[in-house]
Amino acid sequence: MTKLADKVAVVTGASRGIGAAIAKSFAAEGAAVVVNYASRKADADAVVDAITRTGGKAIAVGADVSKADEVTTLVEAAITAFGRLDVLVNNAGIYEMSPIEAVTEDQYRRVFDVNVLGVLLATQAAAEYIGEGGCVINISSNITSGLWPKLAIYAGSKGAVDIITGVLANELGPRKIRVNCINPGLVETEGSEAGLSSGFQEQIIAQTPLGRAGRTDDIAALAVFLASDDARWLTGEKLLATGGLR
Ligand code: NAP
Repeated sequence: MTKLADKVAVVTGASRGIGAAIAKSFAAEGAAVVVNYASRKADADAVVDAITRTGGKAIAVGADVSKADEVTTLVEAAITAFGRLDVLVNNAGIYEMSPIEAVTEDQYRRVFDVNVLGVLLATQAAAEYIGEGGCVINISSNITSGLWPKLAIYAGSKGAVDIITGVLANELGPRKIRVNCINPGLVETEGSEAGLSSGFQEQIIAQTPLGRAGRTDDIAALAVFLASDDARWLTGEKLLATGGLR
């Protein structure tokens, strides 16, 4: 499969979950992939192994997306290893449920540093190298339209990602760089298992017309589409990926 042949992609937060699935799907479609991780090097190495064992190209690079110097190193690693950069997937994200009375300054800064500042810093660094026809894909959340209780910080951070997507689509459009986001509903990952209460997850599944939680490959397929030439006329879009939940 060659929908992304000759393209080079950086996927942030690709050591597990949605990011790992996107990295593997991109590689299966012919892209060379930089698999970014924050702390789980062994997991990122396993993703790289899975890609290279099947003939794909990938490297693992550790970088905290909320640190400008580390993000620069991440993007430069792509250029050094593969000579160019075409696609940035801003997937790295953290989430936790917290009622308003339990919200802390630390929690706010932790979540916004990764989910919002990380998107800005990575896009800034990548935009230096991404040329005409390239794109940025932000992984937001359907939480921005759901307005569920106990998610003010997380939903606030993803609301910022939605707006940033539209602004940067306008800003980078003249350079023929597309910027879109995917807004998944509940997806089965280690992160969602740890960060969202089981009662909340059951409630979401019960309200979902297609009757199940999302899988990481459901989201990866959409990322492949957005990164490919099939999506050449889409920019500034929010792709709701929820099994019909609105
Ligand atoms: P996950 O299983 O918790 O994995 C998170 C990934 O992000 C890991 O690879 C982690 O790296 C990385 N990461 C965390 N902080 C980082 C940082 N500062 N710098 C670089 N990487 C960092 O998460 P997930 O469920 O796959 O979610 C991925 C994205 O989808 C997030 O943006 C999330 O908000 C969004 N999303 C998820 C769901 C869902 O239900 N799962 C729904 C909607 C949207 P290490 O492992 O190395 O720490």
